[in-house]
Order: sequence, then C-alpha cells, then structure tokens
Amino acid sequence: MLIDIGINLAHDSYDRDRDAVIARAHAAGVTQMVITGSTLASSARAIDLARQRPGTLFATVGVHPHHASEFTATRTAELEELARQPEVVAVGECGLDYFRNFSPREAQQRAFHRQLELAARIGKPVFLHQRDAHAEFAAILGEHASAWRGVAHCFTGSQQELDCYLGLGLAIGITGWICDERRGAHLAALMPRIPPERLLLETDGPYLLPRDLKPKPTSRRNEPAYLPQIAAAVARARGEPLASLARSSSAAARALFRLPQDPHAPAERVENRHAL
Ligand SMILES: [Zn+2]
Repeated sequence: MLIDIGINLAHDSYDRDRDAVIARAHAAGVTQMVITGSTLASSARAIDLARQRPGTLFATVGVHPHHASEFTATRTAELEELARQPEVVAVGECGLDYFRNFSPREAQQRAFHRQLELAARIGKPVFLHQRDAHAEFAAILGEHASAWRGVAHCFTGSQQELDCYLGLGLAIGITGWICDERRGAHLAALMPRIPPERLLLETDGPYLLPRDLKPKPTSRRNEPAYLPQIAAAVARARGEPLASLARSSSAAARALFRLPQDPHAPAERVENRHAL
C-alpha cells in the first residue's frame, strides 16, 4: 500500500474520468492521496475533492511561486480560512521558482514568507517547491527554522542540496523523475542517503509520467496508479525490498501529514490497535 503525497487531482485533465483515475489508483495499491493546491482556486477545488472521499483524499492549500504576484496581502486571510479546514494537511505548494520567473522574485519571496508564517500559525507542515533557487530558498527556510516542518516536493537536485534539506529537517518527495534514464541517474545514486522516515513518494500527476512504464501508455498524462513504478525505482536504487519501502514511505507520509489510518488497512491490524 502506497500514499501519493503530490497529485494535482484538481487539474482539468482529470475532469473527464477522475473517478476512474482514483479507482485505478486503489487497484494499484495507492490507497491515500494528498491533492496539491497551487492557487486559491485550485486549493478550494482540492478541498472539495477531499471532502467527497474522507480518509482517502486530503488537500494542500497554497500559492505556487508562479502565481505569487496574484497573492496580495488581502488574500492571505482567504488562504488561511481554506488552510484551517480539517481536510487540509499542509500549506503549499509554496517556495521559489527562478527557472521560469513567471512572478517577479520579490513577489515570490514575499508569498513564501507569508505561507511559512501561516503554516506556523495553524500548526500544519509545508509542501515546498524549489527550482533554480536553492540558496535563497534555504536561507528563507532558515529564517523560519523554529516554525515549520515540511517536504521538499519533487526533489531533483544535487547531493549538496539534498544534504542541506536533510540538515534543515525536511522530508524529501521523489517523483517519476527517477524513472528517467537520461536525467534521473544522479538521483538514483542519492537515494541511499535519505533516512526511511523522511522519504516520501509522489507522482506529481498529470506531470512527469515515468519514462520506463511498459507498455508505454498512449496518453502522456501521469496518474497515481503509476506510483508503484516510482516506488520500484526508488527501492532498486536503495537496494531494499519494495515492501519495506512501501511500509516506511507510507508511515513517513502519515506522520508528516498526520493522516488517519488507511481505511483499506487489513482488519486484523485495526483489531490490534483496539487491543492496545
Ligand atoms: Zn512543484
């Protein structure tokens, strides 16, 4: 059983067949999913989806650095109201993206600070996005060090960046990037450095379709049913059995996001909990 900690299930590419996507995820052993919010609108949509399947779907609420310039001070209150909903397990995605610079850097930094403060205020972890902005990103996190817990989502960086994030106390989210033989090789080499209690798995669907799926899907759209492919690549890179990685990464996700027990967990485990 696996948990997809980063799926953009509110994305319109799933509008036609969202229920089927969720059913395929369950059939593949992906029993719980955290839906990524990246704007106020998509965050509200993520909450709506989570409400339809309590215990199975959860939401994050945040403003992606691409949209930072739309995130004015008055909208912080709106974001906070959404973030306080019980289905919401993290603030984000938030962070810095200097690769595309769709929003000016100052606006990105301001939005990032505001969301780190919000996470601290409401006691929820952060779901972090960083691209081509490592130094500034780490510096800003350092300023809030006492106040946050979180995950560096879709980690694709260097060993130095990884060690920095681990040193800051972050969990690390690994996507299908690792399944790409051209650009994922350096990432595979880093997998043994991540402590099991800090390694999380995510598809980041509909983006980042794993390149090693066989047979190749006809659509380029990624979906949570492909998470086992990512888990297998990570387990291989760590030299550990898939079952043990599945167990530790699910436990890590549950601990970070404070998810309830999986509703599909075997009955015997539930009885044991009662006995305790
Ligand atoms: Zn992201």
